[in-house]
Amino acid sequence: MTPTGPWRRTAAGAGLLRADGTTAPTIFAEMSALAARSGAINLGQGFPDEDGPVEVLTAAHEAIAAGLNQYPPGRGVPDLLHAIARHQHRFYGMAVDPETEVLVTAGATEALAASILALTEPGDEVVVFEPFYDAYAGLVALAGARLVPVPLRWPDFRPDPDDLRKAVGDRTRVIIINDPHNPTGTTFDRETRELLIELAHRHDAFLLTDEVYEHLTFEKPHTPIASMPGGRERTVTVSSGGKTFNTTGWKVGWLTAPPEVVTAILTVKQFLTYVNASPFQPAIARGLDLGEEVFDGIARELEARRDILVGGLRTAGFDVSVPDGSYFVVADARPLGFADARELCLALPRLAGVVAVPVSAFVGETNRSDYASLVRFAFCKRRPVLDAAASGLRRLAG
Ligand SMILES: *Cc1c(COP(=O)(O)O)cnc(C)c1O
Repeated sequence: MTPTGPWRRTAAGAGLLRADGTTAPTIFAEMSALAARSGAINLGQGFPDEDGPVEVLTAAHEAIAAGLNQYPPGRGVPDLLHAIARHQHRFYGMAVDPETEVLVTAGATEALAASILALTEPGDEVVVFEPFYDAYAGLVALAGARLVPVPLRWPDFRPDPDDLRKAVGDRTRVIIINDPHNPTGTTFDRETRELLIELAHRHDAFLLTDEVYEHLTFEKPHTPIASMPGGRERTVTVSSGGKTFNTTGWKVGWLTAPPEVVTAILTVKQFLTYVNASPFQPAIARGLDLGEEVFDGIARELEARRDILVGGLRTAGFDVSVPDGSYFVVADARPLGFADARELCLALPRLAGVVAVPVSAFVGETNRSDYASLVRFAFCKRRPVLDAAASGLRRLAG
């Protein structure tokens, strides 16, 4: 029996529903299954293949042994609330009140979900930069709001200020910003951030900034929009320990925002998960307090890995958009004779022993053709794995 009900509209809106009413597997599941079947190196799904700082792992063991295994406070464990405030001050010079301006969530995903549900009403518009992280479309659909995409175009994926001005209007309630950006690895420049702040004020909108890759930047240090003049009062800043400390399975995320905004989001969050991850919260607090050299080391190591993969892709004959941050690189398959990245991704395990995902997976139906030949590769893997992937890719050069 095919169920009916509002969820059908929601799931169809998010592109998750097949015509027969069953849930379609995501491209990530499909490509990971292909990797498992073919034994190819999986550079499709973006998760690290090794553990992060040992101090962080040890702190979690200690917390479990110390009996921190029951529900933590609704806003988060005080250790972590204070560590987040210290982190915002140390890296960005922001004074954040740990008691009223911070909320710990079940990963960045719950911070985004609770924010979108708290700040929008059905029919409101939410502006996103396209291509976008797949959860955004799903969450906006669940809220009954309408997604308004602004294109990021090959090869540097910088937004056009005129496109942005056209997209934001009085119906805009939220602008979602992902900087550094998944899937393209682009980072926003100062002018774009200033324009976003100006537009948020003019149209009474919120900026919801997904900064999970804040420490994974290569060219220049990250600047949160909330740390810029006029940004703070309009911005919900979201981050997570998952990408920085290679602990994606722990799902410890957080947000910082003005006190009344945090309270509004908390009213939603308490009915989503209520709370989560009590022993992992003090462990992530430990991570946030680690020395500058650790954060530096994480970025420099990732930069070296980026260079291995970019080298392999170039030798193979791809055009490459070299990322400023995140752990993804986008390459154009046209020089290799593939106009359809999906087709290339299906052939890639056989041709090069590598799995990747088409960028069209991050694009709504309307604009998919603009991204048809682009492929996303992840480089959050150990160096020998990336070396092997790079030499596999070189086989494409024939
Ligand atoms: C991985 C990722 C997330 C999810 O973060 P969690 O802390 O695992 O919920 C959110 N946004 C982007 C852009 C990501 O790449």
